[in-house]
Amino acid sequence: MPGAEPIARQRRESAKTVRLRHQLLQWYALSKRDLPWRRNADPYSIWVSEIMLQQTRVAVVVDRYQTFLARFPTLVSLAEAPEQDVLALWSGLGYYRRARMLHKAAKFVVQQLDGLLPTKAEALRTLPGIGAYTAAAIASIAYGEVVAVVDGNVERVLCRLEGWAAGNRVGETALKRKIDELAAQLIHPVHPGDFNQALMELGATVCLPRNPMCLVCPVATDCETQGEHKTVPRPRMQSREVAHALSVRTGRRPNRSGLEVLLEQRPASLTVMPGLWELPALKNTIVAQKDLLMTLRHAIMQVNYYVRIRNVHEDAVEAITVAAGERRWVPVNEVAAMALTGLARKVLTRAHLLAAIPRAPIAQ
Ligand code: SF4
Repeated sequence: MPGAEPIARQRRESAKTVRLRHQLLQWYALSKRDLPWRRNADPYSIWVSEIMLQQTRVAVVVDRYQTFLARFPTLVSLAEAPEQDVLALWSGLGYYRRARMLHKAAKFVVQQLDGLLPTKAEALRTLPGIGAYTAAAIASIAYGEVVAVVDGNVERVLCRLEGWAAGNRVGETALKRKIDELAAQLIHPVHPGDFNQALMELGATVCLPRNPMCLVCPVATDCETQGEHKTVPRPRMQSREVAHALSVRTGRRPNRSGLEVLLEQRPASLTVMPGLWELPALKNTIVAQKDLLMTLRHAIMQVNYYVRIRNVHEDAVEAITVAAGERRWVPVNEVAAMALTGLARKVLTRAHLLAAIPRAPIAQ
């Protein structure tokens, strides 16, 4: 009979969808990690966590998130803060554009929307720094909107569940469309926030990129691949050598004692980390062994930076470094509050010139 097969197939798929939702939610309720942003449904806190979690590991975010929310507990407090304070609290998370956009959006919400964050994904997307993923996450988790969140983890899980080959550029747009459609079809109509988080959690803790743990996977019975999915190789890391000067002197300011360290602000015109403070770059990346204070590796996106740090006397700084921005001698006890690059923070920490930003308990 014409049409019988599509109807039967629809019924089978529907049963599969219902089962998958149920198993996933049950597993999530029992197995989800206890993360600070899961302890309440405050839209502002969820927004902050979602921005921080973009391209940053959960372990790093847990620490920074609590400190950030202790300093900026509300959207209004964030909107009213100077940008340099926001960037300083973002130190260690990288990708500072996210912090700038978050700050900008908070100011917009306070000034133009009476401090009320939009409740629908479509409206959230109009705010600076909020894309489809973040908008869907806030709208579904905080406001219960039935809208699917599709991040890299979700894409991988759905591709494996369906047996779709991922990672080749040919047909990427068509595949993305299929993934979005499937995510929209699967989402739980009553518990969209938990369902989205469950799918992301499955990708982050069970359906791992390299070694999926299919034996403990709650949806294994409905998975087409069960670990046989081909993993796309990671892009090759590039290497670069850089060298910076660490110059420290005794404090000169009236009523100040202790040490000062020389920092340079990256010009606002740069596309990478504009306005952040770093150690002056040396003209010559080769540093004689006798002058070498430390070496370290620092990874940013697809580049491994092999960094040499030279101890430089203040009288020699001008001659051997590249002057690229405003320089300032900063008392060591004030350095932690500066908006530092991740590399500067790492070097100053290793040199014992940086007191850690105190952790503070999150306001409940
Ligand atoms: S069965 Fe394996 S491959 Fe399939 S979704 Fe679960 S963990 Fe991923």
